[in-house]
Amino acid sequence: MITLHIGMDDTDSPRAGCTTYVASLLVERLHALGVSFIDYPNLVRLNPNVPWKTRGNGALCLRIRCSETQVEEIRDIAVETVESNSDLSHAGTEPGLVLLPGREIPIELTTFAKKAIQGVVKMKEAMGLITRYKADAVTFKTGRGVIGALAAIGETLTKDHTFELIAYRIPANYGSKRLVDVDSVFEMNENTKPLTFNNIDPERRRILISPHGPDPILYGVRGKTATIVKQGHQMIRCLEPIERWTVFRTNQGTDAHLGQVASIKDIRAYHPVIVKGVVSKPPRIIPRRHIVFTLKDATGQIDCAAYEPTGELRKKASELIVGDIIEASGGVRPALPTRPMTVNLEKFKLTDLQRRFAFQNPLCPSCGKRMKSMGTEKGFRCGGCGFRSREVKKHMIEIKRGVEPGLYITAPRSQRHLAKPLSRYGMENGRKHGRMVSDWFWVMNDPKVTPSQGSARF
Ligand SMILES: [Zn+2]
Repeated sequence: MITLHIGMDDTDSPRAGCTTYVASLLVERLHALGVSFIDYPNLVRLNPNVPWKTRGNGALCLRIRCSETQVEEIRDIAVETVESNSDLSHAGTEPGLVLLPGREIPIELTTFAKKAIQGVVKMKEAMGLITRYKADAVTFKTGRGVIGALAAIGETLTKDHTFELIAYRIPANYGSKRLVDVDSVFEMNENTKPLTFNNIDPERRRILISPHGPDPILYGVRGKTATIVKQGHQMIRCLEPIERWTVFRTNQGTDAHLGQVASIKDIRAYHPVIVKGVVSKPPRIIPRRHIVFTLKDATGQIDCAAYEPTGELRKKASELIVGDIIEASGGVRPALPTRPMTVNLEKFKLTDLQRRFAFQNPLCPSCGKRMKSMGTEKGFRCGGCGFRSREVKKHMIEIKRGVEPGLYITAPRSQRHLAKPLSRYGMENGRKHGRMVSDWFWVMNDPKVTPSQGSARF
């Protein structure tokens, strides 16, 4: 028996498909061959800030045990599955498939994966590693997807990770409104939080588990363990059939994309960053109600932007003043003629709050009313009793800040797949994840789906 890692990426397009679905189909076909799975299918989200990303920028890896004589057949099945389920006629869809035998993942592949999650990697690097480690790469069109496919193999999710159960629609329903009972999702959220996350948008009373596009996903339940996402799934009512569901182990919700830099001069475009600095220019509103402020340290300065859809984050960013010390996290957009390089804030930690003061006119010593200034150096006059004085002075008062030290994160509705939500802090998964051997991580034609009783809300 040998271990085989099968990575794949870039099969979808904005108009059709989803690489998680291709992986789910492949799980079914490999299962029929009698292979065993040594891990849940891995869903590895790559750097969301590279300009040429796929929609969710998620790459997949299946890790199996099989006999050496099966490898040829497994390869054929994988190629056929990717080929017939990719949106190949779409210009930007460049699928890649990589098969790597061997129990241990070479450290160089792990490093490559980290680079693909936090930075930018090139096709040449991927092809070099494929040659060195005698991996089998299958490319479709330019095959740029081999980058993600190889990265998915290299990222073995030994640190913090989460699970997602994705339920898929039957093809006849693609493109139509998803019939998921909204109330059942709110109930599921109440019953499973904080072990599940980002199920709902509490501010707008909407569900976040379903996408809106023409892709095959009905919904996805994200959470800390495989068991809880399955339980969450069982609590959801829907009025349309589920073709299949699959549980993925993933780096979603872990901030895996953020790389800490030592100083502002080390920030590079397209490399999502965590950087510490002091607010050097106050927040200003730019068109479409976005907020921009400037952060500096001894090595330089950088603009940080909080966009309107980030909700509370934008509101708190607008309360920052010069002198506040924060740790800012987010993607980095390159400089344009119209603006400098900018960190798109996903979260910030306010560590040192600058005190804010203002001068106030004195109170009338005679009647206690607030006095009015009669002009520079001319003293004050009381509007109540007419008392005048050059002796009384303005005094300094401290103004209460509209923000406290703490962590501020984008609203769940605008969180990226990789962003770690507030509810996950302190809930991280460690190294051990319990090797998966049972077969219950995927199901076809889920019999649990029954029409909602009474008044369903969609
Ligand atoms: Zn007075």
